Amino acid sequence: MTEPFLAVRGLAKTYGSVTAVEQVTLDIAQGEFVTFLGPSGSGKSTTLYVIAGFQDPSAGDVLLNGKSMLHVPPNERNIGMVFQRYTLFPHLSVADNVAFPLRVRRRSRADIDAKVKAMLKLVRLDAYADRMPAQLSGGQQQRVALARALAYDPPILLMDEPLAALDKKLREEIQYEIKRVHLETGVTILYVTHDQEEALRLSDRIALFNHGRIEQLGSGRDLYEEPANRFVASFIGHSNFISAMFVRGSGKDHTVRLPDGTLLPAFSSEVRSDDDAVAVMIRPDAFALSHADSSSEMASIAVTVKNATYLGDVVQLTTSTPWGEDLDVRLRPETTMLPQLGDALRLRVNCNNLRIFSQR
Ligand code: ADP
Repeated sequence: MTEPFLAVRGLAKTYGSVTAVEQVTLDIAQGEFVTFLGPSGSGKSTTLYVIAGFQDPSAGDVLLNGKSMLHVPPNERNIGMVFQRYTLFPHLSVADNVAFPLRVRRRSRADIDAKVKAMLKLVRLDAYADRMPAQLSGGQQQRVALARALAYDPPILLMDEPLAALDKKLREEIQYEIKRVHLETGVTILYVTHDQEEALRLSDRIALFNHGRIEQLGSGRDLYEEPANRFVASFIGHSNFISAMFVRGSGKDHTVRLPDGTLLPAFSSEVRSDDDAVAVMIRPDAFALSHADSSSEMASIAVTVKNATYLGDVVQLTTSTPWGEDLDVRLRPETTMLPQLGDALRLRVNCNNLRIFSQR
């Protein structure tokens, strides 16, 4: 078997009695864009810093092409870094900032000039070479930081919340730039963010962290459509978790019985006993209005509208089930009818992707 490009094996890091990271294991292929996503304090940055060499792990290993990097000092790991805060040298011009890592590596003058030019072109700042950092916007400063981090062609680039200090519009613009730079250079990127939309937009794969562990590693689509557990299901996208009873089927295909007796087919990776109390995950967009003429065999739920917001492309409803649970619903607006507060509706359920989890 060939060695993975970058391998993290059984990584743990404790600070006194605080466990920041435990049992983190993942393989990263060359050229991949992998994002560490998760709530604040879940161990994303610690994992990144151990890979960079700024922190020693309490246990585990980090291997590049099969060789442990633990005894290689950070400056010899050849890993580029971009941080949340602008870290440009304020007294150096844009060009000199990008040239800095090359000067440290004692490259020739001609090499440095050519590389600085190419890097500024890559981040579309060729016209800004002589500016000082203070004369640039936050987004431009991060693009210079990106150019500087890539100037010496590191095989791996680590980015720790690089856009967290920027406003939403600028963030989206730079996300696009980062994605383009990734495609153009083929550099392997490990990226930390707590913003799921950013993770979905940028990544080949997402490692979803919680309490120092990876809950699930996969494409954004894997995490959204096949969440491994309730944490993943609630973190990625929006979900309803409705209380239900388990009705055992076969394989992963089972049924749940809602409190009003409605039966819905649903997946569970865990086999449970009949009548076990469970939660069934239903995404808000799994519903459609049921019309009188629709087949009565289709699973449907009766609800009362508690709140309706028209958002142009969707109508967002908060509804209440007969047994008193809230159910969030997103419907495509229909010209014939816009649900109003207090309306009694019957909602058809698209049962293609219902999942069963534990109740808490
Ligand atoms: P994230 O990047 O997901 O926000 P971190 O990796 O920064 O999370 O932190 C994980 C946990 O480790 C948190 O509980 C944090 O308070 C703790 N932690 C991180 N760095 C230190 C440190 N230098 N000393 C003590 N505790 C730390």
